[in-house]
Amino acid sequence: MSGQLAEAVIDLSAIGDNVRTVAGVARTGLMAVVKADAFGHGAVPVARAAVRAGATWLGVTSSTEALALRTAGIRAPILSWLHRPDEDFTHLITARVDIAVSTLTHLHSVAGAATRLGTPATVQLKADIGLSRNGANGDDWPELVAWARKYEAEGSVRVRGVWSHLTNAEEPGSRSVTGQVSTFREALRIARDACLTPEVVHLANSAAALGVPEARYDLCRIGLALYGVDPFDPTGPGRFGLRPAMTLRTSVVNVKRVPAGSGVSYGPEHVTDRATTLALIPLGYADGLSRTTEDRASVWLGGRRCPIVGRIAMDQCVVDAGDLPVALGDEVVVFGPGAAGAGGGAPGAAAAEPTVGEWARWAGTNPHEVMTGIGARVARVHLHLER
Ligand SMILES: *Cc1c(COP(=O)(O)O)cnc(C)c1O
Repeated sequence: MSGQLAEAVIDLSAIGDNVRTVAGVARTGLMAVVKADAFGHGAVPVARAAVRAGATWLGVTSSTEALALRTAGIRAPILSWLHRPDEDFTHLITARVDIAVSTLTHLHSVAGAATRLGTPATVQLKADIGLSRNGANGDDWPELVAWARKYEAEGSVRVRGVWSHLTNAEEPGSRSVTGQVSTFREALRIARDACLTPEVVHLANSAAALGVPEARYDLCRIGLALYGVDPFDPTGPGRFGLRPAMTLRTSVVNVKRVPAGSGVSYGPEHVTDRATTLALIPLGYADGLSRTTEDRASVWLGGRRCPIVGRIAMDQCVVDAGDLPVALGDEVVVFGPGAAGAGGGAPGAAAAEPTVGEWARWAGTNPHEVMTGIGARVARVHLHLER
């Protein structure tokens, strides 16, 4: 590593194991959701590892992300679901990427592009069943379905999928989830009554794949679980045996012994209450360590958890190592699978390094935001990389 201050080590064997684990529970096809550079894990290597382990689809947000996978030579089916209002669908059609369609505007422009190309476009119609984001709801849905059927009859469009997304799948059995599932069923009935014959019907994200059987249909779209975080127990090991894929690590770049009463970092709001050893680590909020974790966050250093003290700066923060014998260059694990502790440790326990779920709790957010927030200057290092 030339001059890199920190690295996110991505264990691709964990990605493969997680695909097999979720498939074993859900017993459906799986779409590996690799949007946002695979939640910061690296879209191309993660996509390859997921497909090799049996994922049948890849899911991305945008045409840019979809085409990058095709350029890398990935041939698995891809669904792309968020498009510019004036998106030119030509490239997606040519690259045989499925286009999620929520509006008539997009459906007309997809059909137009397909007609010009002389190649049918493959689309997946999205119903809005409660998020009020993308997807068609109310009377717009039957209208979208009717137009899609018309284009299908003409040969410009093939409707390969009907799908939607739940608002709170982490609460299986809740009235809200049950209601949304039945709204989806109704949307599907309307599509089938209009003679659409979707090959893939899908509704479930990770939480639904693992916890909402009635939402599973043909395919589950997994993000969080793919990366090894249990949606029902994000700070701990969970009950499915998922393996967190990312370890964020760096090393101590400065060490000093300071007396009681020493101010630490900007402010300073933190003053040492005893003589202690402070270790500087070269990671800050520009790298994804949120300032909002102040007074809560800790890292794994010298075989124990040591708190981050004082304000996290843009590029660096200070760890209070107490009386631990810390040396320049010692490894610091910011988060990982939670297995570093004695005897393998137990994720979420103080006897091992923090998990990404704990960082999310400290920051008052979800693990998705922590993973996608790891900055671009943190080097990604992939273990078990195959081409
Ligand atoms: C991000 C995303 C997912 C993955 O969700 P997880 O909760 O991380 O499994 C699934 N479907 C859609 C439409 C998404 O945008």
